[in-house]
Amino acid sequence: MADNSTQEDFKRVAFVTGASRGIGRAIAKRLANENRHVVLVSRTESPLNDLAHEIEQAGGSASVRAVDVGDGEALAGAIESAVKELGRLDILVNNAGITRDNLVLRMSDEEFDDVIRVNLRSVFVAIRAAARPMMKGRFGRIVNIASTSGLVGNAGQANYAASKAGLVGLTRTIARELGSKGVTANVIAPGFIETDMTANLPDQVKDGVKAMMALRRLGTPEDIAAAVAYVSAEDAGFLTGQVIAVDGGLTMC
Ligand code: NAP
Repeated sequence: MADNSTQEDFKRVAFVTGASRGIGRAIAKRLANENRHVVLVSRTESPLNDLAHEIEQAGGSASVRAVDVGDGEALAGAIESAVKELGRLDILVNNAGITRDNLVLRMSDEEFDDVIRVNLRSVFVAIRAAARPMMKGRFGRIVNIASTSGLVGNAGQANYAASKAGLVGLTRTIARELGSKGVTANVIAPGFIETDMTANLPDQVKDGVKAMMALRRLGTPEDIAAAVAYVSAEDAGFLTGQVIAVDGGLTMC
């Protein structure tokens, strides 16, 4: 009989928003590979079910919550129900995000508010719901996916850059509030990553961005997933309040 006495008798539980495609999907797969039970969250259920199936086929475990993170009550309810079902919550990856680009003179209140609600307010709501179970377990890894747009600004993205810059202040405050309970909070700020969000950028724009990057290539969702795995690792307990730009050397700030 195999000796499992040195293995943990539980799986860490990770709640990943925006898991149906792009960066969130890669993060969910990576964390599942690292023996985390992953709660997959987005508005559309069928790609989440497909991903859960894929993770289970590969020997991992996952569950699904179809939720609009812009609906605070629904998001907090999903976290509470996951904790009730799984008995714990260890890793929270706030990745769901949207863009509603426009130059500031043309940007409507609605475009501004929608982006703040989905990209920033939802993260506050999720952290508030996750903090208690994490503190109870005296372990937590909060990972907020921001953007280099929030660090250096980007014309046409006043709403988006404000939401992502807001995540930096939110994260550092949470890091200070929860650090003594074993909970860390960090920001990963991707540069240009090849997903649906950047698929419609003209080649000319992509080439211009590549020319500004030390590594001369766009990133992949897996590049971001690797950084999330790093900051959410068991032995990353001394890393908190940091902003890590994973951008191929675009900003270096
Ligand atoms: P994406 O391909 O457009 O995927 C966005 C994900 O978020 C999808 O799973 C989407 O699923 C989910 N989502 C959107 N609105 C939601 C809502 N209201 N409630 C729940 N889920 C929602 O985007 P991505 O490129 O993977 O970006 C992921 C994160 O990285 C975002 O926060 C983005 O700002 C950030 N980022 C991306 C880049 C880049 O170059 N791609 C660069 C910097 C930062 P449903 O539509 O099914 O809900």
